[in-house]
Amino acid sequence: MKKNSFKTKIAAACLAGTLAVGFQGAASPVTAEAFSLGSVIGAVIGGAITSAQVNDTIKHYNNTEEGRQEYFQAMKSHYGVNNDPYLNDRLASIMANLTRAIGQVDDTIYQKPYNYFINNQGSFNACCTLGHNMSVNTGLFNVIDNEDEIAVVLGHEMGHGQKDHPAKGMKRSIGPQILASAAGGGLAGIAGTIIANTWNNQGITKPMEWEADNLAFEYMTHSPYNPGACAAVWQRVIDKGGNSKNSGFAQLMAGGSDHPSHSARRDNYAKKLHEYSGKHVSVQGGKVQVNGKDFVSPADSAGMSGAERSYFVAGNLSAAFHNGLGTSAATADGNIVMLGTQPIMECVSGDESAQSLADRLNVIK
Ligand SMILES: [Zn+2]
Repeated sequence: MKKNSFKTKIAAACLAGTLAVGFQGAASPVTAEAFSLGSVIGAVIGGAITSAQVNDTIKHYNNTEEGRQEYFQAMKSHYGVNNDPYLNDRLASIMANLTRAIGQVDDTIYQKPYNYFINNQGSFNACCTLGHNMSVNTGLFNVIDNEDEIAVVLGHEMGHGQKDHPAKGMKRSIGPQILASAAGGGLAGIAGTIIANTWNNQGITKPMEWEADNLAFEYMTHSPYNPGACAAVWQRVIDKGGNSKNSGFAQLMAGGSDHPSHSARRDNYAKKLHEYSGKHVSVQGGKVQVNGKDFVSPADSAGMSGAERSYFVAGNLSAAFHNGLGTSAATADGNIVMLGTQPIMECVSGDESAQSLADRLNVIK
């Protein structure tokens, strides 16, 4: 969000005449957050909540420093915090890498740095909500154990955050009536209702999902991670849970029924990878191709299907071509296929030898 337009929006809210004091200070500390929510509760007693008050409540949590920290604490107490040092270190490292990557294409990230924590939920999910507040389920780490794929999930969520989708979705999905009934439970009722609504990603539309997916790819290509992980993580979801949007993994990065299928999302990422490689690299049915010729069909290994691995191989190849290494010699370094200085694939039991793959790559690249 550009600073100027942000200020303009705040001014407009004030001109609307509601809660003028509470929402002035996005750029500076605010001390009156209770005032604004208190006014909403007061309105229930008075019999009505207006759309403007719904919007102001959302703005409070989304745009003010004090509101977003308050919301973050409410999320933590609502879902519980997993303080496991290993998982928290991993998450911190990924968030730092992604923040640097996003900063290269969108420096507004430094104006509202992300808050994040690991919650105790066992299901496979992560979310970004109002105020750039993120939470990752403990269960996510049980399904994905490589950093590149975790980074894709978080990059997608941060794509939503960078484009302010949580607030936009919330405005679509929380009406004055919902907020009025929530306000009956006081401040906790309002926060709890908004938190529950966000976790379900209500109001997040299909175009928003695609935008977040495409941003995740862009962020990954500016990070130290393998851009092939974008397609790979969706292949993994399909391998583990089937392609139905109503499968056990249906809620990953998507809420309602109006969302792209897992395979459509995987294929969108595969197409982006092909373009990123200068159209040299593609994946067809678990087979990595270079310039339209078969290169390798990786074996299943270490809990990954061959199809999932194929996207990692394609990601390394695409990076090599993108970075001008396409004319370098392919070699075998032990069991690793190299293209110039770029590692392409670590050969494991069930794969062809690194030397035969390097030889083939030299012929077709
Ligand atoms: Zn999403």
